[in-house]
Amino acid sequence: MPKQKINELLIGTNNRGKLHEIKSLLPKNIKIHSTYEFNLKSPIENGKTFKENSLIKSKYFSKKTGLICLADDSGLEIDILDKNPGIYSARWGGKHGDFKKAIKRVYRELSKKDKNWKHKKIRARFVCALSISYLDKKIVCVQSKIEGSISTESKGTNGFGYDPIFVPKGKKKTFGEMQPAKKYKIDHRYFAFKKLRKFL
Ligand code: IMP
Repeated sequence: MPKQKINELLIGTNNRGKLHEIKSLLPKNIKIHSTYEFNLKSPIENGKTFKENSLIKSKYFSKKTGLICLADDSGLEIDILDKNPGIYSARWGGKHGDFKKAIKRVYRELSKKDKNWKHKKIRARFVCALSISYLDKKIVCVQSKIEGSISTESKGTNGFGYDPIFVPKGKKKTFGEMQPAKKYKIDHRYFAFKKLRKFL
């Protein structure tokens, strides 16, 4: 654990949706840097878990910049698809990170698994692992999740990724239909952040 609270931090992501959300969660007194300032590509994520991939990113970006780095690895687990896309969530969008393509693939895989899926509750959850590293050293790594289900159609244009097809438990709207400020206060990233708060 660092002796002092962190006052300068690189956010280790090339995903603008995540960058925006993480910025809104960080205390305002921290000086924030993004990977775009340094023109950095993302590392190969060859970990087997969200936590492993998050650490690969925070260590990689910290070593490239010499800054303490906070990185996120997250994704959508769908129970009847054996928890896929899971750590492959970004990859289902193809090389160009096309979220419409990823959503189409979810619907295709669900129909392959069960033709009747639209009449059932398709349980799913978003998982988020967050880590902070300095060079090759892990400072902290935490994980959290939000339970919910898959909507029978894509709804809403807010957010990013699988937001238009995910309905959090106890709500009627998809994340894509919610105001971003509302989503940011109930999602997997928010709860993972709560676990990190004492470091920031
Ligand atoms: P990665 O962590 O950069 O490998 O990518 C995670 C992928 O999971 C994103 O590209 C999205 O497709 C999906 N994802 C993660 N968090 C969210 C979220 O809050 N909303 C929608 N999709 C998400």
